[in-house]
Amino acid sequence: MSGIRVRFAPSPTGDLHIGGVRTALFNWLFAKNKGGKFILRIEDTDEIRSTEEFVKVILDAMKWLELEWDEGPGNENLKYYPYCQMERKEQGIYRKYADELVAKELAYPCYCTPEEVDIMREKAQADKLPPKYDGRCRHLTPRQRKQKEIEGRKAVIRFKMPGSGATVLNDIIRGRVEFDNSLLDDFVIMKASGIPAYNFACVVDDYLMEITHVLRGDDHISNTPRQMHIYNVLGWKMPEFAHVSMILGADGARLSKRHGHTSVLEYRKEGYLREALINYLVLLGWSTEDSQQIFTTEELKQKFSIERCGISPSVFDPAKLLWLNGEK
Ligand code: GLU
Repeated sequence: MSGIRVRFAPSPTGDLHIGGVRTALFNWLFAKNKGGKFILRIEDTDEIRSTEEFVKVILDAMKWLELEWDEGPGNENLKYYPYCQMERKEQGIYRKYADELVAKELAYPCYCTPEEVDIMREKAQADKLPPKYDGRCRHLTPRQRKQKEIEGRKAVIRFKMPGSGATVLNDIIRGRVEFDNSLLDDFVIMKASGIPAYNFACVVDDYLMEITHVLRGDDHISNTPRQMHIYNVLGWKMPEFAHVSMILGADGARLSKRHGHTSVLEYRKEGYLREALINYLVLLGWSTEDSQQIFTTEELKQKFSIERCGISPSVFDPAKLLWLNGEK
């Protein structure tokens, strides 16, 4: 048993897509390869778009592909029901750390409405400045805060970003990536509803779940410097990061329904084999030196490594999946 711990953290806001399942698969294979643990965490903090039905879709797909996870609080039907952020929110887990950040003056309540923030951003853009929240609630006195509350304004909690300098990420796949801090504004960590925002809930959970490697799609790379700052100010050990390239359609556009089925359960419905889909998905972004094409899942567990994930986007090709299905 190694100390490697990885997670797949889908938001149940839509059907589980090819790209999401590939992320799950890469994490699972990495854990299997290293004798580590694989965790499933449902990030259901988007109150409007998250549904139980989409949670079920995720669980069904994971079950079909046999991407079993190793931990979770469990419930009457499942030994390990996955971790769910809304359940953890009820336990006060995120509030505790948000309060700590505010007490240490590393975060602050902001009373601006979303409309007011939009106006600030538009104005900055018109002045040829980065479209950022202008930080006006950073310096409110306790008295001014009280006044805002009396006026009936609800506060979000914003994290104080440095506003200058650079944040350097050493990504396992992409190498050194530098972010200009002046482009990153004080971001929301707790919404006015008391629900944590993605960047914050993700860091708190990755820390508490002792995640050693965050392997996810590169659509999240712009969130990484924000998350790194939270680790830094709380003095938490940072996981290693690896951002996998997006999957595109043959026309170079981001993968969507017009390129074929994007929802993974559609392939089950059509009778595709689990082994074929796994074999196909792993080749979307990973390869061996000798460009082997056909693998058993057992072989993949032995061979998979993050270092061999490529930087260029992969192209989705339903004909290749059909061919692999025939080979199985
Ligand atoms: N809930 C996020 C998503 O579904 C997870 C991102 C992450 O892995 O940090 O995109």
